[in-house]
Amino acid sequence: MKITDHIKKANGKTLFSFEVIPPKKGNNIEELYANIDPLMEFKPPFIDVTTSREEFVYIDKGNGLLARKITRMRPGTVGICAAIKHKYDVDTVPHVLCGGFTKEETEYVLVDCQYLGIDNVMALRGDAMSHQKYFEPNKEGNQYAVDLVAQIQDLNSGKYLHEVLEASNKSNFCIGVAGYPEKHLESPSLQSDLKRLKEKVAAGADYVVTQMFFDNQKYFQFVAAARKAGIQVPIIPGIKPIAVKRHLQLLPQVFKIDLPEALITTIESCKTNKDVRAVGIEWAIAQSKELLAAGVPVLHYYSMGKSDNIHSIASALF
Ligand code: FAD
Repeated sequence: MKITDHIKKANGKTLFSFEVIPPKKGNNIEELYANIDPLMEFKPPFIDVTTSREEFVYIDKGNGLLARKITRMRPGTVGICAAIKHKYDVDTVPHVLCGGFTKEETEYVLVDCQYLGIDNVMALRGDAMSHQKYFEPNKEGNQYAVDLVAQIQDLNSGKYLHEVLEASNKSNFCIGVAGYPEKHLESPSLQSDLKRLKEKVAAGADYVVTQMFFDNQKYFQFVAAARKAGIQVPIIPGIKPIAVKRHLQLLPQVFKIDLPEALITTIESCKTNKDVRAVGIEWAIAQSKELLAAGVPVLHYYSMGKSDNIHSIASALF
């Protein structure tokens, strides 16, 4: 079922959902299931599965030299979506990227999703590789998320690449895109980023999931500005509980987001990462309660591997 239909069916009740990351190549899927199992009691209507682009790995050649190889360390997003959907009878949302994929490969991914009965996809640009200063699209790939949305919409109207097919079989994907309450790190201004978001919606995006934020005012202001700009689709807040002290530097550095002073001071006073995890849970509960009271359509949590903290948060709310 489409995310937008889940939201309509909930009739104003806030839904619970979360995002998982595929295991690293060589690990099995059981650890992922062990993290999903406890969260199923909160009846998520959908679970997102992220996609990672290719990266460099260094292999010891045994002669004192390292060989640099390029590989995907966390493959299998669509397979994992199918496995989770089958095991838990829940909708799954594969993240589909521009970066590292040709349009042809993207089409294969989408065709697989259609065969597997996956109704939703999250269309994202992806980030630059670690050695690159700026994002560089694959020569035969999509440059921006808006181009990827257009490709998915083409498939929804039965238009495949190369036009070699008489396509009677149209897909019917519900398309999610990313939104940034504190603007995307490369964007010159919030206004310009909103303009880009509006283009994604005009190209066919059905809903937005936000980047993490720690001050709800940022989300409320973003939604108000989006509505003023004419963006009417659901805007789902993405919540990440802080889990380790290093997040104080890492999250602002990677995502260019601000952390509220009260949160920084409390985390700085923590003696152990166990204490930090507890503070992260309390902060996320307080954030979620306010968002619930404001009637957000879904509370969507970034689980980043371990789900015990998401379980504690959901227990306090759902
Ligand atoms: P876009 O919408 O393409 O925007 C990228 C930048 O380009 C923005 O600054 C925008 O303002 C600008 N821009 C857009 N269109 C144009 C244009 N026509 N001309 C000029 N500038 C333009 N990353 C992963 O690798 N895997 C994941 O699974 C993943 N999941 C995510 C889930 C969520 C909810 C979010 C918020 C992010 C996720 N990301 C993921 C990170 C995402 O890939 C990065 O934030 C990336 O840098 C931007 O992606 P986007 O889809 O927002 O890009």
